[in-house]
Amino acid sequence: MKIKCPTCRQKTDWLNNPFRPFCSERCKLIDLGAWASEKFVIEGKLDDEADNDASEKEINNA
Ligand SMILES: [Zn+2]
Repeated sequence: MKIKCPTCRQKTDWLNNPFRPFCSERCKLIDLGAWASEKFVIEGKLDDEADNDASEKEINNA
């Protein structure tokens, strides 16, 4: 059975592949790194918005 590596789109074996669904450890790490970076950016953006909301409320109350 052949599958496509989600990172580099190359065909790779599903059986006997310790890195599946990726073709190699490198592609697995790239995908995990991309996911972690994306999550970090989204969380940072949410933190900034939360700070802005808090500041506006403080100004309105004062
Ligand atoms: Zn790959």
